[in-house]
Amino acid sequence: MQKQTDYLIIGAGIAGLTAALHLSKVGHVVVLTKGKAHNANTYWAQGGVAGVIGKQDSFESHIEDTLKVGVGHCDEAAVRQMVVGAPKAFQFLQSIGLEIESEPFMEAGHSQSRVWRSSDFTGRDVLGVLLKAAQRNRSIKIIEKHEAAELIVHADQCLGAFTRPSDSNTTSLKPYFAKQTILATGGLGQLYHKTSNALGAGGDGLALAVNAGLDLQDVEFVQFHPTALALPKNGRHLLLSETLRGMGAKILNQHQEQFLSHFDKRAELAPRDIVSRAVFIEEMHGPVYLDMRHIDSNHVEKKFPNIFEALTAYDLNLAKDLIPITPVAHYACGGVPVDLHSATGLSRLYALGEVARTGVHGANRLASNSLLESLVFAKVMADHLAKKFGADQLNASDLEMVETPAVVLESIDQVKAYSARIGKIMWEHVGILRSKNSLEKAKKEISKLPARDYRIQHRQIAAYKIILACLARSESLGTHFMSKDID
Ligand SMILES: Cc1cc2nc3c(=O)[nH]c(=O)nc-3n(C[C@H](O)[C@H](O)[C@H](O)COP(=O)(O)OP(=O)(O)OC[C@H]3O[C@@H](n4cnc5c(N)ncnc54)[C@H](O)[C@@H]3O)c2cc1C
Repeated sequence: MQKQTDYLIIGAGIAGLTAALHLSKVGHVVVLTKGKAHNANTYWAQGGVAGVIGKQDSFESHIEDTLKVGVGHCDEAAVRQMVVGAPKAFQFLQSIGLEIESEPFMEAGHSQSRVWRSSDFTGRDVLGVLLKAAQRNRSIKIIEKHEAAELIVHADQCLGAFTRPSDSNTTSLKPYFAKQTILATGGLGQLYHKTSNALGAGGDGLALAVNAGLDLQDVEFVQFHPTALALPKNGRHLLLSETLRGMGAKILNQHQEQFLSHFDKRAELAPRDIVSRAVFIEEMHGPVYLDMRHIDSNHVEKKFPNIFEALTAYDLNLAKDLIPITPVAHYACGGVPVDLHSATGLSRLYALGEVARTGVHGANRLASNSLLESLVFAKVMADHLAKKFGADQLNASDLEMVETPAVVLESIDQVKAYSARIGKIMWEHVGILRSKNSLEKAKKEISKLPARDYRIQHRQIAAYKIILACLARSESLGTHFMSKDID
């Protein structure tokens, strides 16, 4: 029997699960997740959710800050939709059980304290309440460890996805048909050798969209975060939140000297891209450290209990030790272009969250805007789709015409080896500093990888599209920094 649902959501992070909860009020929802449900970037978000709540702040100020950080490359209508949607988004989170702290935090680029946390691991708390609500909801079925390998495209519309269990050796795909399909596959940090991103964030959604005939937009704008722990574990680097620098953390070079003021007068509080470049350049000479030893240790532990605790696994004390840091690939500002309802250029296909290019982030993302973007755009999309419900039936004869492809699988070690190869090429040639020569080199190396397995192909396609986008933008803008120094 054919598998079919009203809404097929690919991805169970904040974007996918928020959409699922809203859409479950009108129809049946199936949510696929490539790994276990907590394996998502949402789980790792530390800073919080930006939003204007209360009278001391204003929507106009949040809009202005977002546009400024996006260096004139944002879509103002999308920014406005996100900012104005914040109060309802917070009400939604509270309605499903999230407890939000009473005072907001300040983060770089914001002119007001407007980043709201539930703890210093807000993402984990948010994902926790979303998952609980979705698991309780009879109209939502979450299928873990089940991945989309290809979108079903027939007669210029998306009819669902071809899927397979992620852990199996099966080379046969199964079609999952849906009236509306929503890509919510998250980011692309795992295309880089060093990243803060979850293991599943390898740009799958970008490749699925490209294979379905769509273009990508703004994918050259990959945001790098300056302060991740330099010691990788389980394929990612632990993030050391920006709010630590907001609280006075210093960044020191190998001689234990502050050096950021040589790069920007705002020093430790300069925007992420500037601090990332500075740390990247300094680390060519020796290790770089984050230092909180001058701050009251009780205060540090009280404000950042989870980061404090996470560091103990590395035998490090956040308040007493120099913490070795490195910049990492962190966030995709661009992606699959969508309109204000999150509709892509392909009928019946929507995109939400980090995989989507809504125009909110422009050439650089204002800290803590991404969780808000997912919450607001998911609600707007669900309201839009609810109005179509009933009038969007699938045509049975279309489904009969669909032919299921077979796939070629390599061993998991091969997939890992190729992913590591792509990660190195992207880090070295398409990373924090780029040049025409380095990008041409990366293009050549990526295109000659013999990718037969779709899991490698997905990474290859996403990486290739990023390189092409970088090459098309010869001048530096936002996170995209072209440098002659690396030629
Ligand atoms: C360390 C860290 C800290 C951050 N801190 C903040 C913060 O403080 N504030 C803020 O606003 N933002 C923050 N961000 C960014 C923010 O967390 C992400 O942009 C956001 O969570 C993305 O949500 P998402 O739902 O789009 O993707 P994710 O949460 O990454 O979920 C993606 C889902 O897609 C699934 N998936 C992927 N490919 C497939 C496939 N082929 N088939 C099936 N399923 C698939 C994955 O399994 C996963 O379930 C942070 C990010 C990181 C990594």
